[in-house]
Amino acid sequence: MAKKEPLVRYCRFWVDGRTYSGKIRDNSVDIVEGDPFTGFSPIRLSYPIDRVKFLPPFMPKKIWCVGRNYLGHVKELNNEVPKEPLIFMKSVSAIIGANDFIRIPEWAGRIDYEGELAVIIGKAGHNIKEEDAFDYVLGYSIMNDVTARELQNSDGQWTRAKSFDTFAPFGPAVLITDKMPEEAVISTTLNGKTVQEASFSQMIFPIPRLISHISRFATLEPGDVIASGTPQGVGPMKVGDLVEVNIEGIGSLRNICAN
Ligand code: MG
Repeated sequence: MAKKEPLVRYCRFWVDGRTYSGKIRDNSVDIVEGDPFTGFSPIRLSYPIDRVKFLPPFMPKKIWCVGRNYLGHVKELNNEVPKEPLIFMKSVSAIIGANDFIRIPEWAGRIDYEGELAVIIGKAGHNIKEEDAFDYVLGYSIMNDVTARELQNSDGQWTRAKSFDTFAPFGPAVLITDKMPEEAVISTTLNGKTVQEASFSQMIFPIPRLISHISRFATLEPGDVIASGTPQGVGPMKVGDLVEVNIEGIGSLRNICAN
């Protein structure tokens, strides 16, 4: 029987003063030419994984975010269950990569982590039907939707609270596949202690619904990212904390808080 090829985990990385595109294997990263949006081909050169510095896998065109998409999280912040997906945006200027520092502003009150599955759109679409939604997905990555919680509450509009520089850690890889297994688990650890853990089957509005909903009012474009909401267990971070968001099959997005 032919061995099934593992799914590709595409990344961008820095090594010896240069940046490359790559494909992550167990303990090494193979260089590739190109990118998953236009196609890539392998180069016969690889680096041990512990020698490379991961960069954001690409610069998103837009970051669509979904608020209150897991029941446990809706309840922990005493909110009401939304009747339809609650959509807001986060500025792409907030993007950083794995192992970059999240800068904690001294004046902005409580700053929370929010571990989330990031859906990567690979094909343009408008008015997408739920049953066709996965045709528009290039793959999946990880985003930490870092939030200035007190400003979110006092502002009403969420743009400022969600878009401080460094508040969008993204990566380290894009898993190239149209569907994530519903039972796959997302977890967040703070200084090694598990603080969030859920499977994607717990989303109030599943991924096809999110894609369909957004595409009714805005054309989705290749390079758009949908941060699909955070599960129960959000909490504050302080300078010196290590926050790590893990998704089975994709990897671990690890960042340290600094000021
Ligand atoms: Mg969020």
